[in-house]
Amino acid sequence: MLLQSITERTWYLPGANNLAIVTTGAGGAIAIDTGLDKDTGRLLRKALEAAGLTLRAIINTHHHADHIGGNSYLLRNIPDVQVYAPPLEAALIEHPILEPTYLNHGASPAAALRTRWLLAQGTPVHQLIGDLERINKGDTFDWQVAGESFEVISLPGHSIAQVGVAYDGVCFAADGFFGSAVLAKHGVPYAHDIAAQLASLERLAARDDAWFLPGHGPLVAHEDMQAMLAVNRAAITQSSTSVLRALRQPGTLDAITGRVLRALGQELAGIPQYVIFAGAIAAHLTYLEQQGLVQAMLEESGITWQSNVTR
Ligand SMILES: [Zn+2]
Repeated sequence: MLLQSITERTWYLPGANNLAIVTTGAGGAIAIDTGLDKDTGRLLRKALEAAGLTLRAIINTHHHADHIGGNSYLLRNIPDVQVYAPPLEAALIEHPILEPTYLNHGASPAAALRTRWLLAQGTPVHQLIGDLERINKGDTFDWQVAGESFEVISLPGHSIAQVGVAYDGVCFAADGFFGSAVLAKHGVPYAHDIAAQLASLERLAARDDAWFLPGHGPLVAHEDMQAMLAVNRAAITQSSTSVLRALRQPGTLDAITGRVLRALGQELAGIPQYVIFAGAIAAHLTYLEQQGLVQAMLEESGITWQSNVTR
């Protein structure tokens, strides 16, 4: 597959995980995320070879397995590649066992969670991007990667310290927003922190880049971006409403997750997809709790959530 040009110095391989490339001087290239596994790593390597480019660095926007899974193959097959990632995300990239661990209540992951969807091969992170304080504040700042200056956009929310990067008029937004088909497929877009996720959408809305590339979904032109962000905002707020509606009776996280799945008519492919979905529901419960709309109590059946909304 050949790299598709966005602007003179930005390229991508469209797919379930968009694989983006920035070209630097002297035939160099910087990859922005590496896809799910060694197959996406190989795809990137072949595309770079066909274009006569040498990979110098990888920017990982966040630690999710479908964004870092190609790192290991690329590091093994191309010399002197430097990995850049935001703090905290970097720790999870270096120790990927932490993703299925946090999805398993902090316990050693059950067999069903030790899949490539949740457990990538770890690689070193050579350079940190920014610091947590700036990312949590939502700052935008310049950062040097392999001698090139990138604008870093703090996009926490989907993940704990996710960033996007902008270069040559293109904003690589990672999972800061999703394409419409992806939103429809997942029902509740995955998130760690809903308030931060919504704030990150506003940060993208204020940008004047010519193009926006999400991790999953088609490339978006500037004039279509406000509509795209509105669809994302609606998916998140509707998810919160669905969770609140599911609390007409109190329930445990599992019970609420089941009710939301039924209400949305969603079917999940397996246990990995379930724990991700339930994780997003848990993020919405925390968000609703922050607004004083729900509260948690310990009951016989476990941690039970109830709505404070009078009905
Ligand atoms: Zn992600």
